[in-house]
Amino acid sequence: MPDTTFPAADRYSRHVLLDRIGQEGQRKLAASSALVLGCGSLGSSQAMLLARAGVGRLVLADRDIVEARNLPTQLLYDERDVAEGLPKAEAAARRLRAVNSGIAIEPVIADVTAANISELVAGADLVLDGTDNFETRYLLNDAAVKAGKPWVYGGVLGTDGMVMAVRPGRGACLRCLFDAPPDLGQSPTCDTFGVLNAAAAWVAALQVSEAIKLLLGGGDAGTSLHILDIWGGSATAVAADRRAGCACCGERRFDFLDSKRGSSSSAVFCGRNAVQITPESRQAPDFGRLRERLTPLGAVRFNGMVLEFTAGDRRLVVFPDGRVLVEGTRDTAEARSLLAKYIGS
Ligand SMILES: [Zn+2]
Repeated sequence: MPDTTFPAADRYSRHVLLDRIGQEGQRKLAASSALVLGCGSLGSSQAMLLARAGVGRLVLADRDIVEARNLPTQLLYDERDVAEGLPKAEAAARRLRAVNSGIAIEPVIADVTAANISELVAGADLVLDGTDNFETRYLLNDAAVKAGKPWVYGGVLGTDGMVMAVRPGRGACLRCLFDAPPDLGQSPTCDTFGVLNAAAAWVAALQVSEAIKLLLGGGDAGTSLHILDIWGGSATAVAADRRAGCACCGERRFDFLDSKRGSSSSAVFCGRNAVQITPESRQAPDFGRLRERLTPLGAVRFNGMVLEFTAGDRRLVVFPDGRVLVEGTRDTAEARSLLAKYIGS
């Protein structure tokens, strides 16, 4: 059993020594909660720093499982997680509980969509953006502005990054800066373009320092868009003002939240040879029966949380929230037919 009796005064002494934190600040952090939305390159480092800083409750939401290609950039995971095929949220929770047993860590293995984001946002004091796609980011902007919750935008691609703290009502929101996300498939992603691990860690570190400022009471967070170029060694801050007429924080039109896009649809992942299918019902599958039925048809692996089924060059990954990731195709129709054939729909 881990020893949970480390005195906080000793454990957090290096943070308490900082004028900007102190005893009072450390107590505030212990009484705070944060939602880390996406536990990939950015979310891993965010969660690690927040857990070590003693933020009292962390909710870790992610839809994927740990894979070997994640290890260079996603600092929470190790080879054992890949071998076990663990969901990232679960692997992250396991690691962070070993890092700090004195805080609450809640993994959420789910695809974050318009159907569930408001509840997740409501349950935390602030949200860190660890997403890898614009659709979820704009959804988060809608949900957070609507709820009046601060969130910290972060994006990284190649060796460049951007960070901005969004404080609803007190500074620009994401749509004040960029009214609409790029069309699906039009912008490069980390999967297609690549990302330097140090760039992701830098972006995450700046996001976490903005988050800590917000949890401590605001400070001067929320006034600037930070633009980072780690290869060139430069960081610049541009004033980010609210835009009159912003659809989201101005007119309070929550287009992404209200469209319910992604709540019951199939989506082709950009740059990844896979299709994710989300059933309407979102019920937990009967893994026992599924394993029995699939075993004669191909290779089945079940780790208690996620079932993987491989037949030829197609792989189906079934998640506890009912989602199925069909790997080896970008054809939605083929993915649906494989789903109907093997899983039932
Ligand atoms: Zn706005």
